[in-house]
Amino acid sequence: MKYIDMHCDTLMVLLFQDRDQMNLYESPHTMVDLKRMRKGGQMAQFFAAFLPQPSTYEHFGVEMLDDDVYINTLHDALVRNVAEHNDIIEMAYNADDILRNDAAGKMSAIFTIEDGRSVNGSLEKLKHYHDDLGVRAISLTWNFRNCFGSPNSKDPAVMNEGLTEFGKDAVRYMQELGILVDVSHLSEGGFWDVADICTKPFVATHSNCRNLSPHQRNLSDDQLKKLADCGGITGINFAPAFLNSDITRMDSTAELMAVHARHMADVAGIDVIALGSDLDGIRGDLEVGSSDRFGLIEDALKRHGFTSDEIEKIFWKNAIRVMKETL
Ligand SMILES: [Zn+2]
Repeated sequence: MKYIDMHCDTLMVLLFQDRDQMNLYESPHTMVDLKRMRKGGQMAQFFAAFLPQPSTYEHFGVEMLDDDVYINTLHDALVRNVAEHNDIIEMAYNADDILRNDAAGKMSAIFTIEDGRSVNGSLEKLKHYHDDLGVRAISLTWNFRNCFGSPNSKDPAVMNEGLTEFGKDAVRYMQELGILVDVSHLSEGGFWDVADICTKPFVATHSNCRNLSPHQRNLSDDQLKKLADCGGITGINFAPAFLNSDITRMDSTAELMAVHARHMADVAGIDVIALGSDLDGIRGDLEVGSSDRFGLIEDALKRHGFTSDEIEKIFWKNAIRVMKETL
């Protein structure tokens, strides 16, 4: 079955491990590449520009780049790779683009940003990202405070912090422009502010159930219900720490993903569930550790009693619905 994956960090890995080529078609360095996406029957991939911390640059022995130089580099590499393989994939900026590409037998690539820090308190910057780079989703924060607000945290004080005044204006403006507001990594206080402000659906591109896997990156049942009330979706994340009940475990299986999907469906309904692998941003013993292995999730969902219509919603229709309403 075709599928839309709402989050991967592949472009960062390409920059750090294949700087000269940044070959997205076939890469020994990444979990996602165009060849394996094609093999798996993928419909669309959100390619995030995840803004690295200084320690990440250090780890890979790469000199630090200015955030916008970095974003431009990743954007250019994505657009170039897609253009070189436009027999199988095109850039997409809304749901109709994805559906049109699919009808023509092609996959779609959507460019997104993870960590709004580079917005740097400027609404003009948001407009630039939307108009000039085709950015269609921004994770408001990563794991540190920025101009939007505060991150998920084990510290209840930080977890309760809401959006900044700029963050509130920016969320309104993102919905006006047509950029998906992504609350994965955001504080709970920030989540509830987003829910208050948004007049259209918002998303968690890559977050699971905190009830089953007690990591602060996951969503509580109340958050899942609110997300569903707002017409939003959360993408099932393949990271071991966000799937297991023991968050120190390092194995991730399709079976665990189906258990989370069942909980999401029971608590908030089938329309809230999507896929957000986080491939190339996660480590461990990953059963679904590559673009071409999503069929294992379909099998697991069937074992858990999901019908074909329901699996279609999880795999791509819910994501298309939200994009139709927001972009
Ligand atoms: Zn992330």
